[in-house]
Amino acid sequence: MATCVCWFHLDLRLTDHPALDAAVASGDAVIPLYILDDDAAGKWQPGGASRWWLHHSLASLAADLEALGSRLVLARGQAEEIIPRIMAASGATTLHTHTRHEPWSRDQLGRVSSALEGRARINTYTGTLLKSPGQVLSKTGNRMRVFTPFKRNLLAGEPPRPALPRPSRIPAPAAWPEGDSLDALDLLPSSKSGQQDWATGMAAHWQVGEAAAHSAFDRFLDGTIDHYDTSRDLPSEIGTSRLSPHLHFGEISPVSIYHRVMERGLTNSGAEVFLSEIIWREFSHELLDQFPFMPDAPLRNEFSRFPWRDDYADDLAAWQAGRTGFPLVDAGMRELYSTGWMHNRVRMITASFLTKHLLIPWQEGERWFWDTLVDADLASNSAGWQWVAGCGADASPYFRVFNPITQGDKFSAHDYVRRWVPEIAGRDDRGLFSPRDDGAGLFAASEDGTYPLPLVDHPTGRERALSAFQRIKSA
Ligand SMILES: Cc1cc2nc3c(=O)[nH]c(=O)nc-3n(C[C@H](O)[C@H](O)[C@H](O)COP(=O)(O)OP(=O)(O)OC[C@H]3O[C@@H](n4cnc5c(N)ncnc54)[C@H](O)[C@@H]3O)c2cc1C
Repeated sequence: MATCVCWFHLDLRLTDHPALDAAVASGDAVIPLYILDDDAAGKWQPGGASRWWLHHSLASLAADLEALGSRLVLARGQAEEIIPRIMAASGATTLHTHTRHEPWSRDQLGRVSSALEGRARINTYTGTLLKSPGQVLSKTGNRMRVFTPFKRNLLAGEPPRPALPRPSRIPAPAAWPEGDSLDALDLLPSSKSGQQDWATGMAAHWQVGEAAAHSAFDRFLDGTIDHYDTSRDLPSEIGTSRLSPHLHFGEISPVSIYHRVMERGLTNSGAEVFLSEIIWREFSHELLDQFPFMPDAPLRNEFSRFPWRDDYADDLAAWQAGRTGFPLVDAGMRELYSTGWMHNRVRMITASFLTKHLLIPWQEGERWFWDTLVDADLASNSAGWQWVAGCGADASPYFRVFNPITQGDKFSAHDYVRRWVPEIAGRDDRGLFSPRDDGAGLFAASEDGTYPLPLVDHPTGRERALSAFQRIKSA
């Protein structure tokens, strides 16, 4: 029996897996392979929270493969060295894999391809998106940079391919190649780094793996989706799907999600808005494909001369620690650090506060999110930061400065703030979202002083941001 390799990456599942499906359909014995190639990813190798997720997701995939008579071969190192070695040792002549969309991964695939040239074939498939970047075009055949027409054209085009079933059996090779153990990948925070508590917090919040992804989606479809259009903006409620890490690691595919939502019917605006968010994910990948520099540099050129502050180290540390003195911002930053996730509305508020009130470059926030989010995704994270900072394609206008006080009332974030900022939980609703007063003001009497004074006064921060923007506009 001939042998092939199925190379997994951000597709850690068995259901609706085009590369695995093709590998099994070929009739070959299949070697499922995962490679941790930090050198190829460079500065965009998975951050701490993502590594924690990855560890558990690989364990789950390995168990699922074993239940089908197969195994997951793990390896740490350079893909262009490992893949040819494993293929030569096992006599495999075909490599099945999904296309990855990060700029670094294109170079990686190029190196793998050169290393295999003349010896083996590489078959690539679209497995992590509804449509490949470049497939959704404008009427005139051009690539798209504005979300609304992109969504319209995606929905008007050919529907995504049908979802594929989970294989019932995966033929095993006569001999398994040697691999590394999961522990040897060293993905969990070590006791030396003092970050074990961090992982404990994440473990309390998440079930990782394909089965958990489907259960989370089932729960969401069971009810939340019907009022998602309004509940998605309320941080105090579980009003969103919380599928982002499952989607990022490919434990559930967007194609499966799309078809299940459509089968259920777009009977209310909750389902429609949810589908729009899935398409925002597609749009972010479209942008990253068109602008590979998006994680590092602004898409709008004039922002390369934006007068960011350079003396911001202390303010950045306070923002990261959830000690800015603005309760809603601090609640978000603490939720992030404790659980590896932050509510979307609060992501926008915390990001706006960093880039506008504090005038700290968006790349600093992007980098912190990269390390602390379990759903850290190169396309969605960089597009999200550029959107909030006002320098992205189709971005929020720069003059839109989220008000970190009124947004709390507007989106009923009272329980959320009380949960994450317990120092001020005793305040009444009226002053809950305001910074602590520094004198004989509104809150001084009711607080023990443990909650910090604000890093900046809201109107001053807002004005400073707007005048910085004026400088690049008029330059
Ligand atoms: C500054 C900033 C940084 C962000 N960084 C990331 C990131 O690293 N990874 C990430 O997955 N999302 C990111 N987002 C988008 C969004 O906040 C999260 O996808 C969402 O909060 C995840 O929660 P959920 O799964 O409950 O989403 P739901 O509201 O249930 O949405 C369903 C799915 O749609 C996708 N989605 C939703 N909103 C967006 C969006 N604005 N852009 C792209 N995809 C979206 C996600 O895959 C999400 O799981 C960021 C947003 C901002 C403003």
